[in-house]
Amino acid sequence: MSDHLMNTYVPLPVAFARGEGAWLWDENGRRYLDAISGLGVCSLGHAHPQVADVIADQAKKLLHSGNLVRIPWQEQLAERLADVTALEKAFICNSGTEAIECALKITRIAGHRKGLDMPGVIVMEHSFHGRTLAALSATGSRKAQAGFEPLVGGFIRAPFGDLEAIATIAKRRQDIAAILVEPIQGESGIRVPPPGYLAALRKICDEFGWLLIFDEIQCGLCRTGKWYAHQHESVLPDILTTAKALANGLPVGACVARGVAAEAFAPGQHGSTFGGNPLVSRTACTVLDVMRAENLAERADQTGSEMLERFRQRLSANAVVREVRGRGLMIGIELTLDANHLKLAALERGLLLNVTQDRVIRLLPPLIIDAEQAEEIVEVVCSLVEQTA
Ligand SMILES: *Cc1c(COP(=O)(O)O)cnc(C)c1O
Repeated sequence: MSDHLMNTYVPLPVAFARGEGAWLWDENGRRYLDAISGLGVCSLGHAHPQVADVIADQAKKLLHSGNLVRIPWQEQLAERLADVTALEKAFICNSGTEAIECALKITRIAGHRKGLDMPGVIVMEHSFHGRTLAALSATGSRKAQAGFEPLVGGFIRAPFGDLEAIATIAKRRQDIAAILVEPIQGESGIRVPPPGYLAALRKICDEFGWLLIFDEIQCGLCRTGKWYAHQHESVLPDILTTAKALANGLPVGACVARGVAAEAFAPGQHGSTFGGNPLVSRTACTVLDVMRAENLAERADQTGSEMLERFRQRLSANAVVREVRGRGLMIGIELTLDANHLKLAALERGLLLNVTQDRVIRLLPPLIIDAEQAEEIVEVVCSLVEQTA
């Protein structure tokens, strides 16, 4: 590791030189199967030909013009996002955390317009929303927040999946403007809420006039078997944040909204120099087109269900396995003990995986993996877990 990089990550001792589909090759030419997609980013796999072609073509035409002029590809992207989310308007930014910032700014401005002096946002325990100060303050991890005080105020925390807690807050407080929630929590270990939870949140928000914000940065874009994970429970948020897989590796995020939330900003109230430039916007359009053309939601649902079933068959009775859970190709295997050593052990077996919250093996493979690759992931992970027992 270079002495000139700040101390923010502890990388595995490997560097990749190239990739193709779900395969990666390191600098020595050794091949690995990718079961994490650069943290849920490269959903179409590496070096996807259509994505590569569109990036090369656009780079030769125009990378950046700035938002002081119209950007037709950004307009196209907004239309496609409206289509896949059933929402109305998008702000295009450069990352997930920026999409969250945008959602929070909308909430503040809409709250003030309703006469709330200090609009509050209900956020969940164990949530993850990003690393900038407001997103970090919304995040439900003391470990991530420690040392960065003073945090941004106005967040009220409730246990994930607990509707009673929300009802209690509603009774006690008049200053709430929104609920922010991940339909499936990612960083905290692939936690799936009880059925009906999101629909119940929608009902509460309607009753009290709160905005409902779904953070689909990790669970969105076909990963769980729908365009967006909340679409498993026919509910519509007021605001949705999306990023990670949106341009298959180019940095882009979006905050998509409807109704008052879509109309909250006036010119000058929000912006971004790089946001939605022709390169990333056109690439994101291609990614969405490929996801649709290749039925990746359906494919993720099918491959993921089969993998989950195989994991459950093989690991449910294992003494070190607490739970196998997930939806589509967003899979978590929680152990009863520290699983961090499995990252290196898997790497030695030619498999790249992730461990989150120390005990949860997290799998977010590219959505294009075939049956054989899925089977290889299951086989290697199960045998590593079995050796741990
Ligand atoms: C990754 C992630 C973020 C932050 O996105 P960045 O692109 O890293 O800024 C926010 N929310 C969720 C649910 C995420 O998984």
